[in-house]
This record gives sequence, C-alpha cells and structure tokens, in this order.
Amino acid sequence: MHLTQEAKSNAFAEQRLQNLASSVLDDKILTLVVETVSLCNLSCNFCDAHSGRAPEFKQRAGHMDDVTWDNLICSLECYVKRFAPIPMIQFFGNGEPLLDKHLANRIAQVKSLGLSIKTRVITNGTLLSPSLVDKLIDSGLDEIHVSLDIVDSQKYREVKGLDMCHTVLDNIKRAVPIFEERCSAELFIKYFIPSDKLTAGGGGGDDLNYGVCKSDGLLVEELFHQATISSKYVHLKSQKLVDAGINHLEGRVLYSQPCEIPFYLLYIKHDGNISACCTDVFSALNVGCLKTSNLLDILIGRELASIRLKHLKGQSDQIPLCAGCGNRTASNISSLPSKVLEDIEQSLVNKIGSTADQSFSN
Ligand code: SF4
Repeated sequence: MHLTQEAKSNAFAEQRLQNLASSVLDDKILTLVVETVSLCNLSCNFCDAHSGRAPEFKQRAGHMDDVTWDNLICSLECYVKRFAPIPMIQFFGNGEPLLDKHLANRIAQVKSLGLSIKTRVITNGTLLSPSLVDKLIDSGLDEIHVSLDIVDSQKYREVKGLDMCHTVLDNIKRAVPIFEERCSAELFIKYFIPSDKLTAGGGGGDDLNYGVCKSDGLLVEELFHQATISSKYVHLKSQKLVDAGINHLEGRVLYSQPCEIPFYLLYIKHDGNISACCTDVFSALNVGCLKTSNLLDILIGRELASIRLKHLKGQSDQIPLCAGCGNRTASNISSLPSKVLEDIEQSLVNKIGSTADQSFSN
C-alpha cells in the first residue's frame, strides 16, 4: 500500500479531531512516545538533536535505565487501570531505538501487560538485521517504520552524515519477505516529500529541504513499488520534511496558530523527563518527570494545561520553540465546534487554577 501523510490526514481528519477533543476533556493520552535511548549512529542535517545544532542535547544523551523503565511501567499500569490501554506507544524520540539492546524485551512487556493497543518502532534501519526483525515481531510489535529517504550513497552521506545507504537498503530488502511470511506486523518504508514552506537553509530549491528533493522520493518509490503495491504487510509512506527547531535557535518568530501535538501526545525522554512534544530536544516543553509524578498527574497538571491553552488560543508564539517551529501539518484543533472549544478552554483554565487540589496519586 502507498500512503501519504495528506491522504491519511484527509481520510481520518474528522475522527481524529473528535478523538483529540475527548482525550483532552477526559485527560487521556492518544499516543505515547517512549525514548529508551537518545543516542544516534547518524547525524542527519535536518535533525535538531544530532546535527550539532544543540550540543547540550548530545552531552545529556544516553540510555534509559531500569529504574526509569520500571517507573514508566508502573505509571502505565495506573493509567490503564483507570482508563484503558493507550491507543499507540511509539518507540523513538530523539535517538535511534535499535541501539537499545533491551528494546524487544521492553516491547514484549508492554504488550503482555496490555498497556497499549498498538506499538510502533521508528528507526533509521541501519541495525535492522533479519534476526532483529524476527525478534521484534516475536515481541508482539505491530509496526516498524524505516526512514530510508535517500537511495544515492553520496547524497545519503551528505544528508545523514555517514554512508549507510546500502546497509539500510539491504536490511529493508531482507526484511520484506520476513514481514510477508510472518503476517503479524507491518513494515513502512518512509521517504520525504519536499515542503515549499521550509525556511531553513535559505537560497530556495533543494536548500529549502536540507538537500532532499522530489527525485529522492521518486527513486524510493520506484525501488519498492513492486514489493508494496498490493502487499498487506509492506508499505511505502511519504511525509513532509518539516522545520521543527532551527528558527527557534535563530530567534525568528513565525508561527502562532495551534499545533495538535500537545493535545494528543506525551514524550517520555530516556532520563524520565516528560515533554508535550516529541521534537523537543531543547527541553522547552517539559511538563514533569517520572521520578516525581505519574502520567495521570501530568495529564491534569498546570504545566501541560498552560501549553495547551496557549495553542488553543492561537498564542503559540508565546512559546519560543513553537513560535519558530513549522510543524503545523496535522489536524487544526481550532476547527472544532465552538462549544467543544469552550469546554476545552474551561477545563484547561480550571487545571491551571486548581492543580494543587487534585491528584490521582493521593
Ligand atoms: S509547534 Fe512544533 S515545537 Fe511546538 S508543539 Fe508543535 S511540533 Fe512541537
């Protein structure tokens, strides 16, 4: 199957907005991003974490320890006891998840405890050997998304910092028959479609997209067209390359409209800190830490409510990271009916005013 971000968001936009509204009003999570490792073996030029644009991030990068993982499991068990399994837990964040040797065991634990309906790993594919594919499918994993993006060796090195192009291509080609045989998990081969909105890099043309151009996507499509066109288990998936942080670093304020991400997602960092956004390498949207709070308390907390309220009211330019971030690609929460928006606003205002009086852990 071939999927584009637009096709997906058009088809599910209305349902997604309704899910967003009810999850905010009921204090639930639609997607949890879990970063069990924040190190990476590539240094893509579009990545704020590993391109060198945020050196302080690299100094703090590391693996999630067992105590933090156990805190997360405990917190998830409380959440599931109160509500229901989380619809999606994604293993990625700002590191390469396959650098975590415990990943398959951790996914198996999440699945066996019934903590999420679906699980997904997003990887650069460099370490995706056939034996690891088998191990991940054995763990109960539902989806692996491999960011291939480029199939030309020289360009791959220019954009991603190392020439691992043939390694990734070989890994994908060896993974395809495994997914077809096992019939229980899906493989998504990802590539970018250039955005005409990007402002980073200057100069126009391919510079606007960090050197990635339309022909790179077409080459990926051509290479995997046959393997994916009628497959139930192997898919091509395109997405827009968005400029998620560089304007913030350069002090440019560009965007004030709402972004849906803080309304449906929490990002657990490898050190237990929790952010309202999965692109937050600068710790600008921290809403708590697993060492001191559980997820239920974070969801009713003042910090998260305050970020959400700014976005809801079209004041996201008051948050420097969001003001400089071009990622407004998904559903527009301000298009919800006005009564629903009023209810959401009231519930956020209440949380900001009375967090001290409420705690699920009391
Ligand atoms: S605007 Fe950008 S930084 Fe802010 S929440 Fe959305 S994706 Fe994250």
